[in-house]
Amino acid sequence: MQVFKSVWQHYTPTPEIAWLLEQFRQMLNDCIRIGLAENVTSLKALSLKAYNQLSRHDVASYYKLCAISAATGILRNYRKAKRKNPYVKEPYARRPRLTTCYGFKIRDGELSLPIHAKEHIPISLNQHVQATIGGFRLRSVTLTADRLSLAYANEVQQLQPRGFIGIDRNLDNVTVAATDGPVQQHDLSEATQAKVVYRDVRSHFKRSDVRIRREVSGKYGQKQREKVQQILHHASKLIVEEAKAKQCGIAMEKLTGIRKLYRRGNWQGRWYRGCMNSWSYGELQRQIEYKARWEGLPVVYVHPHGTSSKCSICGERMKPEENRMLRCPSCGYRVDRDVNAARNILARALRFGAVGLAGEAMVAEPAPTQQSAKSMRGS
Ligand SMILES: [Zn+2]
Repeated sequence: MQVFKSVWQHYTPTPEIAWLLEQFRQMLNDCIRIGLAENVTSLKALSLKAYNQLSRHDVASYYKLCAISAATGILRNYRKAKRKNPYVKEPYARRPRLTTCYGFKIRDGELSLPIHAKEHIPISLNQHVQATIGGFRLRSVTLTADRLSLAYANEVQQLQPRGFIGIDRNLDNVTVAATDGPVQQHDLSEATQAKVVYRDVRSHFKRSDVRIRREVSGKYGQKQREKVQQILHHASKLIVEEAKAKQCGIAMEKLTGIRKLYRRGNWQGRWYRGCMNSWSYGELQRQIEYKARWEGLPVVYVHPHGTSSKCSICGERMKPEENRMLRCPSCGYRVDRDVNAARNILARALRFGAVGLAGEAMVAEPAPTQQSAKSMRGS
């Protein structure tokens, strides 16, 4: 099975690269415009309609294909969003961002990027990036105005898991329950703290000055994200290491868990809370998923309904007590509610199989059947 990771570094675009980024942005917008006018979203249809019209751009033809492919994704997302909200804005690329899967090479610590047909431009890679990609097959290059990111691939054998670990994400912690062994919690409150600082900076600006406020929140938002990302990277690394040591697959809730985070507490602005929480919730799952897949560990998603309210022993609805404890009126079990949720997620992965396996894992690894789930529980 092919699995992917990516690594990035800062860089300063030369005038040629800046020109290439701008050409790509224009081509992307051309493709989007044509796609909207002709009402096509498939790669093949858009290629037929748009390719010839991109001839005014004097760039290597690799980029035309990549622009069409990128536009296809954007048009599909737009079509999906429009079904939910008919007033959604038509897509238009403002910021430069280029992704290519073709034509580039790595040589002597440099990325050699085609610009026109038969003309390449070098970009030097830093030590960290060179060391990280060493030995792996490169998949794609993404450039923005200040970042260069490389995606690389690895071939792994998917593990036959001995069991699963269930993961429950809350605002301040992530709780991990394994088939065998004690429950573990990773503290994420530092990530929550960072958000408060950010909120304070933002609130110094007057409501009327929306434009400045947006700019500032963008800049601080970026720093904020990077800080939270570090904290999440640490937690996701430990979780995947544990799963690997135990030879276990990973079970998480399907992303509707965001709603659970919305409700808890109200000391942050609702708008910001929603954005940051849903982002960091998804980001932790994303990190756990790609790190696990890189190790060949299966990742499954279970239905979240009732995981935080039902007894993980007998399935009865539990009664809340103080200090985040729950008590089951039926069997008398008393347990921390995060621990209970993680156990429910784990049990669901074993008992019912998964709602959906992630990405390629879906093809490679069928959901555990009732039979195998039972035998796993027994072991
Ligand atoms: Zn019970």
